Amino acid sequence: MNFIVIGAGVSGVTAAHLLTNTGHQVEIVDCRGHIGGNCYDEKQGQVTVHKYGPHLFHTNDKSVWNFLSRFTDWIPYSHKVVADTARGRISIPYSLLTEEQIGARLSDAEIRELIFVQYSEKQWGVSWEQLPDAIRNRIPARRDNSDDRYFTDHFQGQPKDGYTALFQRMLEGIPVRLGVPRNEWRKLACDYDHVIYTGKIDEYFDCVYGKLPYRSLRFEHEKSCQRLPHAVINQCNDLPFTRIYDHAYFLGEEPDETVITREFPQAHDDSNEPFYPMPFGAGMELYQKYKELARQEKNTLFLGRLATYSYLDMWMAVAQAMVKLKQQKWIS
Ligand SMILES: Cc1cc2nc3c(=O)[nH]c(=O)nc-3n(C[C@H](O)[C@H](O)[C@H](O)COP(=O)(O)OP(=O)(O)OC[C@H]3O[C@@H](n4cnc5c(N)ncnc54)[C@H](O)[C@@H]3O)c2cc1C
Repeated sequence: MNFIVIGAGVSGVTAAHLLTNTGHQVEIVDCRGHIGGNCYDEKQGQVTVHKYGPHLFHTNDKSVWNFLSRFTDWIPYSHKVVADTARGRISIPYSLLTEEQIGARLSDAEIRELIFVQYSEKQWGVSWEQLPDAIRNRIPARRDNSDDRYFTDHFQGQPKDGYTALFQRMLEGIPVRLGVPRNEWRKLACDYDHVIYTGKIDEYFDCVYGKLPYRSLRFEHEKSCQRLPHAVINQCNDLPFTRIYDHAYFLGEEPDETVITREFPQAHDDSNEPFYPMPFGAGMELYQKYKELARQEKNTLFLGRLATYSYLDMWMAVAQAMVKLKQQKWIS
């Protein structure tokens, strides 16, 4: 069989590789000028810059870890985050270490107020009261130890040569077309038995039921001879950005000049990227309608964050592609 894969993010790249490896003919296209989707990184001077925000790999899924390890060595990396708050700079998630830094034991309500309320309001652009329970209840539990790693998964690391290089290796021998205008794939698809679609699901159906809500980001990158004292510093305060980070930490680089980025959440429109689906409330209701249309599509498989309208970490996107391609019996 032959397949056209729309989108060269981790979902599309994984699908393209698995299908090719099983003997299918595959072409992959992306409207951006590069592969990697939001995981894309590139060298700027001596620093590997995560163009669409820091990507830290973590999973408890051994099969995903082993699969990706065929294409990369890993640099051991345990992600740590601090937050600037009304009680000073503290480690998050909240742990016994945070308690030592603050010099007091906070109640759950106090932790929520200190770390989550302002941050979430900035992230989603609405007041805490208007946020759905799905977000308000997503507060990580306090840790009854001093483990200050952000993720506690068994497998954690950064691909030694970066994410773009990892995906390039997965795409070896597969034709890739970049900079393809957003609707162009529809013409190309006529020549293929199947479409693997990883773009926005509402866009696939020409937004017949209206546009799904997404949240976007604006990044302010700045070259600096001054390193940040931490990889990522969340801003749980009234500054207009949610976090600031120093890219040199992610691969343990020691450049003369680093790149520092401030991340500003903003509304999504046609001029920016749909970084976060908003699968709750009205967004979820609308998605159910598109999901039903997707179920009726005969020759298209919907994969990834935008097409399944869900918050997938990288490992989940890989796992989802593996599972869904197996369900179709396209791979074994
Ligand atoms: C700021 C941020 C930080 C993150 N940090 C982490 C992290 O630390 N760890 C982690 O595990 N995950 C993280 N994630 C999640 C991670 O980015 C996703 O798991 C991953 O990008 C999902 O890949 P995808 O292929 O489904 O989607 P995407 O990366 O969005 O790729 C979709 C691709 O399809 C292309 N496309 C869309 N429509 C069309 C069209 N019509 N025609 C052609 N091409 C099209 C897009 O250009 C894009 O390249 C983060 C996400 C964000 C936004």
